[in-house]
Amino acid sequence: MRNILLVWDIDGTLIHCGSCGREALNETFKDLYGIDNAFKYAKIGGAMDSVLLNNIIEKSGISKEDKESIIDKYGKTLMKMLKEYKQNRLLPGIKEILEYTKGHHHIYNTLATSNFEIGARIKLDSHGLNSYFLTGGFGDIEREKWHAVEQAINQTEKHFHISFRKQDIYIIGDTWYDIECANKLGIKSIAVATGWVPYEELVAYHPDFIYRDLSDFNSIMGTILNDV
Ligand SMILES: [Mg+2]
Repeated sequence: MRNILLVWDIDGTLIHCGSCGREALNETFKDLYGIDNAFKYAKIGGAMDSVLLNNIIEKSGISKEDKESIIDKYGKTLMKMLKEYKQNRLLPGIKEILEYTKGHHHIYNTLATSNFEIGARIKLDSHGLNSYFLTGGFGDIEREKWHAVEQAINQTEKHFHISFRKQDIYIIGDTWYDIECANKLGIKSIAVATGWVPYEELVAYHPDFIYRDLSDFNSIMGTILNDV
């Protein structure tokens, strides 16, 4: 049987926490430097966290050497924030798919996100999801998201001593950026409209599969297993 790798985006795909990342980053800069709405310096939404942070640091004249302590403070702020954040929710079908794949010997899960690893793990922990993901690629890489996807694939192959065929690797994500990552790497895309991007807009990027949400998890898993 073929070995299948599911590469999961986090925000808008596994969970939705509104603008928690942005708000935690703003609060971090407010606390450390008294800067209001630091995110306005980030320039591009959807970019890797490390790229956003570099932009903010550069534009606000803060020393690059502070980067590590800013990320540390960001993690603490995010953790505190998520404890009381009412908008933070696990998306439909996720728990069921993760449970199903956990018991399946030929399906593996990994993460590919633009979140810093510390932010990603805190967000997943707020829903008890970390144990499903032993590997991943994260926004600490100061490049594009497809580099994080490559890292996730490589790590998973090493960890489980498996080599996945490209046609058996699926990126599951809620934005055009995720679909583009799949196209760049010659792997498959599953778009899901549970984030900020409307279904119709995602359709225009021609993902291999598209769902309004993942609540019909049985038929979705059936589709992936029979996709040969
Ligand atoms: Mg997303």
